[in-house]
Amino acid sequence: MSLLDRHRAVMPTWMPVYYGDDALEIVAGSGRRVTDAAGRSYLDFFGGVLTTMVGYDIAEISDAVRAQVGTGVAHTSTLYLIRQQVELAEKIARVSGIPDARVFFTNSGTEANESALLFATNLRRSNQILAIKNGYHGRTFATMAVTGHRSWSSSSLSPLTVHWLASADRLRGRMAGLSDSDLIDAAVDDLREVLATVSAGDVAGLIAEPIQGVGGFVAGPDGLLGAYRKVLAEHGILLIADEVQTGWGRTGDHFWGYQAHGVTPDLITFAKGIGNGFALGGVVGRAEVMNAVPAISFSTFGGNPVSAAAGNAVLDYVLSHDLQGNAKRVGSVLLEGLRSLSYDIVGEVRGRGLMIGLEFMRPGTGEPDPVATLRVFDLCRAGGLLVGKGGLYGNVIRIGPPLTLTEDEAREGLAILTDAIATADAESR
Ligand code: PLP
Repeated sequence: MSLLDRHRAVMPTWMPVYYGDDALEIVAGSGRRVTDAAGRSYLDFFGGVLTTMVGYDIAEISDAVRAQVGTGVAHTSTLYLIRQQVELAEKIARVSGIPDARVFFTNSGTEANESALLFATNLRRSNQILAIKNGYHGRTFATMAVTGHRSWSSSSLSPLTVHWLASADRLRGRMAGLSDSDLIDAAVDDLREVLATVSAGDVAGLIAEPIQGVGGFVAGPDGLLGAYRKVLAEHGILLIADEVQTGWGRTGDHFWGYQAHGVTPDLITFAKGIGNGFALGGVVGRAEVMNAVPAISFSTFGGNPVSAAAGNAVLDYVLSHDLQGNAKRVGSVLLEGLRSLSYDIVGEVRGRGLMIGLEFMRPGTGEPDPVATLRVFDLCRAGGLLVGKGGLYGNVIRIGPPLTLTEDEAREGLAILTDAIATADAESR
């Protein structure tokens, strides 16, 4: 029986392998490359799902984890002090941009958002939350309730009262003749209308990804969150930035995605890249909000010694090697290369740093083209390049490689992508 058949025999039916019948089993990795069970090597332009942020088998990180395991301290509990956890919390508080910040560790992005929602709703004594259509925040009851993307939100029951805001998608705005400032005005009007009409009382918070990840790397105009904030402040509503995909310098211009918006959130949630593959997430936020939940609410495994050791090594590496600067430099090589291509099926090339999306459309129609997207995805893989898929209509190729990607590797991947797009474009005629 193949591994895929065995997977199907033991997993719930709602847990398919996301990348389908030809899903790869990755067995090894080094730098920006992985090897599958059949011995084929791939350049990884998706880094897991933006998870392997520094790269595979990076000595500084592997050594830190081995050293922690070697101490025998897999003693996981929040009853006692964990040096690695305290040090990591101090560093994250320092880089967060939030004055007098507190940090709470979890094992994942889902739990981080779940916790942020818990803090915000408890402080405000309200279970009303504003969320953005096409956003993704996780896989638990509350995080799924604020996920506005039908194929990722498998529960229609909600423990929260959620009020939806339109996604300020710049591509669709442009197609409708709207400038960035028109889009911001429309988004603010939308927020005001939702607050005036459908919310029944005080709203606890607004949760938003600075760039929607699963939603297809869709970003509103710079300044959008700042414009929202002005309205939120009139009502005391908290701002929660989900930086699970956008944090740690990935966007090149900034360390956090929120910094493009001229605003500092009350709470920031993080996960994925900070563990570089080890289970680590958390919330960093204003003390007043973070202290809204009684101390007894801790997470046994959150910030455990091994994951925290990984987190410390990752953050030190990101800062000491200026991976934000690398994301900006190498990201612009990729972005310029992709923007210089001229194929009818490419509706838009967008991105920031090493977070780049390619949206495919049926030429001349403005209609999403998931078929061409899948073809490009398959051709990339056949050519030895792993990329991600996404978007509300399944028509976006997502590029989110480790932030250590070199210019040579960027050009190598660009050549494979270009061939794949050229073939899919020719076939679409
Ligand atoms: N928030 C965002 C923006 C994400 O992209 C994800 C995962 O894709 C999550 C939250 C959930 O994180 P996790 O899968 O670690 O629970």
